[in-house]
Amino acid sequence: MDLDTLCRRTLACRGCALRQGARRVVFGEGNPRAAIMLVGEGPGAREDELGRPFVGAAGELLDRILVAAGFKREELYITNVVKCRPPGNRQPLPGEVQTCLPILKAQIKLIKPQIIVCLGAVATRALIAQGASITRLRGKWIMREGIRYLPTFHPAALLRDAAKKRPVWEDFKKLRAVYCALQREQLSLEFEV
Ligand code: URA
Repeated sequence: MDLDTLCRRTLACRGCALRQGARRVVFGEGNPRAAIMLVGEGPGAREDELGRPFVGAAGELLDRILVAAGFKREELYITNVVKCRPPGNRQPLPGEVQTCLPILKAQIKLIKPQIIVCLGAVATRALIAQGASITRLRGKWIMREGIRYLPTFHPAALLRDAAKKRPVWEDFKKLRAVYCALQREQLSLEFEV
């Protein structure tokens, strides 16, 4: 299956009750060959309206962090654990996460990122360890099946608590450093004779 087919199937999904309350399915967007994938929690009101991830207030902050860290939004791939907006912006329920997770796992298999940034506890628990503490794991690299995972706080958490901005900035600096090292490694392999 390719990413377009997965997207079409996802848009037609009726696997859980979230679809009934959502205006649009937010599949994800960006570079289908991205080295870095960012995974959030689920669409909010603005994302539900536009069908795109991270385009509301948290998305604007994320965009500013990305620019400051030297990334172009379009060179990355951005998606969420659940693809339909939970009512009233509540956290997705464990059953909703489990129903939607195969789509995220399929996106990961198709895009094959070298790095996945888990934005917040929901993404960290879905992809790294159920019951994980984001406060304890943030900023720590976790290697799983050839992918480097970096959990950090969700941008919406920074809007509520400015004290989280500094640690997130440190995490994005680490992200930049590891990304550049991986790019250099790849380039030198390509030019090796
Ligand atoms: N919060 C998320 O987790 N994802 C979005 O797409 C927007 C806000």
